Amino acid sequence: MASEEHGRVGFIGLGNMGRPIAVNVAKQHDLVVHDAAGTAARAPDGSTVANTNGELAGIADTVMLSLPDGKIVAQVAEEIIETNNRRVSCLIDTSTIGPEAAREIQKRCADAKIEYVDAPVSGGTAGAAAGTIAVMFSGAEDSFTRVKPVLDSMSSAVFHVGTEPGMGQAMKLLNNFVSATSMAATSEAVAYGEGIGLDMKVMIDVLNASSGRTTASEDKFPNRIWNGKFDAGFTNVLMEKDVGLFLQSASAAGDNVEIAGAVAALWRRFLDAAPGDDLTKVYPFVKARN
Ligand code: NAD
Repeated sequence: MASEEHGRVGFIGLGNMGRPIAVNVAKQHDLVVHDAAGTAARAPDGSTVANTNGELAGIADTVMLSLPDGKIVAQVAEEIIETNNRRVSCLIDTSTIGPEAAREIQKRCADAKIEYVDAPVSGGTAGAAAGTIAVMFSGAEDSFTRVKPVLDSMSSAVFHVGTEPGMGQAMKLLNNFVSATSMAATSEAVAYGEGIGLDMKVMIDVLNASSGRTTASEDKFPNRIWNGKFDAGFTNVLMEKDVGLFLQSASAAGDNVEIAGAVAALWRRFLDAAPGDDLTKVYPFVKARN
């Protein structure tokens, strides 16, 4: 694959989201991987294990990141920049870090002659495994063309949403704000219905045949809450981060954040009460407050 313009592909961060993405990328590219919590057990079949981020930076040309937040992405970018025998010329960041952090990291990388592009993703761990997650790429047209084979190996739903650093992040934040809001609103609605004596399964079936249908009613409630699995694979730590970043970014732009303020406060309370819980446990949290 090194003959292709994007060169050898690396992947850093093999967590809930990163691992299934890396598994798909490894099916089409010669992949080298690293995760700070231990790589061997997480490495996709056929991939090469790097023992450190620096070792990976000396082997790979185009490196994908799936890391918890902007602070960690900035640290890892710095490690890559400071690698003596560095080979990396492009970072594709699939993490959710917000537009401001993406712009800062892009600038720092550009100074070090590394191209940084944001390509956050949405669609959950199941979507990542199925190769159907939305990929929200922002970068120049020629960069998009160059890394498209890498993006295509992670999903069939790749979107070129903008050319400026951080536009992919803005798209991702607004999506997750809508998702967090529908999850919070559906939880309040279903808790109200159960209080009246309505059956959860009946409510979900009716919502899904009506105008109240959302991803909360189509997926989270029937597949992960009603059956007691609570297994969306996305923690309240990440959801609180994403809604908080949306609120911060929209407030800084002077936009109206009336709904975002209320939704962010709910996710903050849920996070404080049960740090690390799956996002779907917001339903029992909301219901217990009635
Ligand atoms: P996670 O915590 O499960 O995985 C993060 C991984 O990064 C961990 O395995 C961790 O060991 C590794 N890591 C942390 N610091 C590192 C470092 N310095 N060097 C190397 N590896 C390091 O998180 P996740 O759920 O996989 O999410 C990753 C990113 O994807 C986040 O930004 C999140 O917001 C975004 N995202 C997640 C989902 C989801 O459904 N989980 C969906 C869309 C987007």
